[in-house]
Amino acid sequence: MKKIAILGSTGSIGTQTLEVIENQRDIEVTALAAGSNIRLLEEQIRKFKPKLACVWKAEKARELAVLVKDLPVRIVSGMEGLIEAATEESADIVVTAVVGMIGIRPTIAAMEAGKDIALANKETLVTAGHIIMPLAEERGVKILPVDSEHSAIFQCLNGENKDTIHKILLTASGGPFRGKTRAELQSVQVEDALKHPNWSMGRKITIDSSTMVNKGLEVIEAKWLFGVEMDQVEVVVQPKSVIHSMVEFEDGAVMAQLGTPDMKLPIQYALYYPERRFLPGGRLDFWTIGQIAFEKPDMVNFPGLSLAYRAGNTGGTLPAIFNAANERAVAKFLNREISYLSITDMIEGAMNGHTVKENPTVQEILDAEAEAYEYIESRW
Ligand code: NDP
Ligand code: MG
Repeated sequence: MKKIAILGSTGSIGTQTLEVIENQRDIEVTALAAGSNIRLLEEQIRKFKPKLACVWKAEKARELAVLVKDLPVRIVSGMEGLIEAATEESADIVVTAVVGMIGIRPTIAAMEAGKDIALANKETLVTAGHIIMPLAEERGVKILPVDSEHSAIFQCLNGENKDTIHKILLTASGGPFRGKTRAELQSVQVEDALKHPNWSMGRKITIDSSTMVNKGLEVIEAKWLFGVEMDQVEVVVQPKSVIHSMVEFEDGAVMAQLGTPDMKLPIQYALYYPERRFLPGGRLDFWTIGQIAFEKPDMVNFPGLSLAYRAGNTGGTLPAIFNAANERAVAKFLNREISYLSITDMIEGAMNGHTVKENPTVQEILDAEAEAYEYIESRW
C-alpha cells in the first residue's frame, strides 16, 4: 500500500487529492497539514486516520488536539510541525498543496528524507527551482507535477528523450478577462476576477489566472521541471481548456494531452505514475466541442506574463520578488484594499527596486520574499 502525506489537505488540491484516495482505496494517508481550518481537518482525520496532523497556528493546533483526543493522532504546529508532516517516516509521497513560498522548506526536507513529491505548490519551484531540481537528482527522488499543464507536458514526454524538446507550448484559457483592455480592467471587482471560465480552484490562484501571473509562474515552473530555457516555453491561449499543453519535438512532431478540466486527473496521475487507472467523471466529447481556437497571449494588457518572463530570464532572487509581491498584492486585492490593475503595478515596482542576488540560498530567497512584502507595505 502506498503511503502519502498531504500538505494543504483542506484546500482545493488537498480535498481533491483525498477524493482520489477515497475512490481508489489503496493509499494510506500518514500525515495531513492545514493552515487553520480545523473543522475540516478534524473530519479528514476521522476519515483517513493519519498518524500526524499539523495546523499552522499553535492555538488552533491545541483546539484540534482536544477535538480528536479520542484518536491516536499526534497534533503538531508551525514550520517545525509542517516539516514533521513532510518527513513523516512511513510516507512514500508528499503532496505539496499549500499556497506560497511556505512550501520551500518542507519540500526540501521531504526530498532529503527520500520522498517523492507530487508538486502542486508551484511557488516553491518558481523561487527555488535551482535548489529543488539538483536535489531531486542527487537524492534520486521524483518530482511529479500536479499542475494540469505540467502534468500534460509530463505525459507528452512519456518515453521521450528530454533533449529532443524543441519547445513547450503551455496552454492558457486567457481567464475571465481575455480580450479586455487595461481601461476596461480598471473597474474589475473581486467577484469578477474570481469567476474562472473553466477551472474551479483556490482564491489566490484564481486571481492569478485572471491576471496571467499564474501562466507566468507556470512558464518558470516548466523551465525548471523540464530543463528548458524560458524562450523555449511559449504560451498559447486556447480558451476552452481542452488541450492542457503540448510539446514540439526536434522533428516537428507535436504531442498534446487533452481532457476535461478536472484536477483529479493530474492528481491521480502523479500519485500512481506511471500507472493509469480508471477515473470516474466527464469525458471529452469532440462533437460538442466542435472547434478548438488558438490565440497569442496579450502581453500588453496583461503585463503579468511579460514580468514573469523577465523574472525567469534574470533568475536569482527576481522570481521570488515576482512571486512574493504578487502574493501580497493579491491578498490586498481580495481584501479590497487595492484596485485590480495595482496588482501588476506592485509586482513591477517591487522588481524594479530589487538588486538581484544570483544563485540564492533558501534564506536569501526568504529574505527576498520579506523585502517584497516590506516594499508593498511601505509604498501602497
Ligand atoms: P487553497 O487556498 O485552496 O488551499 C491551500 C491549502 O494550504 C489549505 O489547505 C490551507 O489550509 C493550507 N495552508 C495555508 N497556509 C498554511 C500554512 N501556513 N501551513 C499549512 N497549510 C497551510 O489553494 P489551492 O489548493 O488552490 O492551491 C494549492 C497550491 O496548488 C498552490 O500553489 C497553487 O498554485 C497550486 N495549484 C492549484 C490548482 C488548483 O486547481 N487549485 C491547480 C494548479 C496548481 P486552510 O484551509 O486551513 O487555510
Ligand atoms: Mg495550471
